[in-house]
Amino acid sequence: MKQFRHILVGSLIDGSGGPARQGVIMTLGRGRIVSIVEASVDDVKPGAVEDLRSFTVLPGFVDAHVHLAISGTENAEDRKAQRKASFEEAAFAVEAHLSRHIRHGVVAVRDGGDKNGYALLYKKRFLEGRSVPVAVKAAGQAWHAPGRYGSLIGTTPQTGENLEEAITRSAMKSDHVKIVNSGLNSLSRFGDDTAPQFSLDELENAVKKAHALGRKVMIHANGRVPVGIAVEAGCDSIEHGFFMGRENLEKMARMGTIWVPTACTMAAYVKTLPKNSREAEVARRNLDHQLEQIRTARTLGVQIAAGTDSGSLGVHHGRGLLRELRLLMTAGFRLEEAVKCASGLGAALLGVESHTGTLAPGRPATFVVVRAAPASLLQNLDDPDLIVVKGKEVQGGKGGREGFTGTSRTDLLSVP
Ligand SMILES: [Zn+2]
Repeated sequence: MKQFRHILVGSLIDGSGGPARQGVIMTLGRGRIVSIVEASVDDVKPGAVEDLRSFTVLPGFVDAHVHLAISGTENAEDRKAQRKASFEEAAFAVEAHLSRHIRHGVVAVRDGGDKNGYALLYKKRFLEGRSVPVAVKAAGQAWHAPGRYGSLIGTTPQTGENLEEAITRSAMKSDHVKIVNSGLNSLSRFGDDTAPQFSLDELENAVKKAHALGRKVMIHANGRVPVGIAVEAGCDSIEHGFFMGRENLEKMARMGTIWVPTACTMAAYVKTLPKNSREAEVARRNLDHQLEQIRTARTLGVQIAAGTDSGSLGVHHGRGLLRELRLLMTAGFRLEEAVKCASGLGAALLGVESHTGTLAPGRPATFVVVRAAPASLLQNLDDPDLIVVKGKEVQGGKGGREGFTGTSRTDLLSVP
């Protein structure tokens, strides 16, 4: 395993949103960045540094919304089968998905839940207390109201128990709390809202309780009313937020609520649904509307964390994040701003800043190296040349063995 000391970097995107810096020497020590100084090639003694002058270096990525136990497969039979998977089967899937994440430079993920809470169980059984390249934060099971959307990713409070009591019982066992407060977006009628699943009171009490237990709250919500009461209740992040409207975006900017727009889910529907079908047409309009909302959010100063909802139909772990970055840029974000959404901001939301985030002196030396200038970065980002976590090269980049090294103690390594 290679360790680095001095690196001559062609272009550095540091994850703060500021413009890329050209020609710097980054010095590393004990898994951290010691210094970053401007340097010309003449300053460098041959052999004294790792020469990455034709490369761009950017922070290890954070995907703020995934479902590790679910794959993005478009095969209906496979999707049905994974709903019935045993823990052992789900563990294979989680393992494979983590391999894909690290291969694409995603070094931290926030899981939004699965039916049986298997992603959280996998984390507890195989990752906790060990040094692993991908930091995993997991909700376990998402909470939804009886008879409403959400059984694929979680469960309802028990009979006679309210949402706050369900959270009191379970929150300490998970890293954060996930609540579902609307349905899915309609693919037959453009902009069709669903009713909120919980009242403002219920959500307020739930969020207060989760915060008192030291847990952040992510809320799945689409439409004006479901998003409005979720923001009002003080949640930490709004997931999806399709059709939330400008007023909610203004409120989120004021309150510092983070938005995870998962636009790539709709782009995947556009790609997957039969051409010229009504559903594909509605998905296309939903996507355009969401991109318009993202454009407004940027102007208003709403903080956006990049998340993919990987596991959703046609959204694949690892490479999904690159699709989301592209969509943020379609909606007006500069490359450096989009990278901030997928690194510095995401790391703060997940609380994984000791693992990844911005690249600056004192910060962890966790970064992705790509042989390309910033202008052609996105075309080359799918296949990074090197991935470094806390100063150590991890297997997963180009030329590296595919595999998630973190779980070698299990016999799950031989995933297809
Ligand atoms: Zn989700």
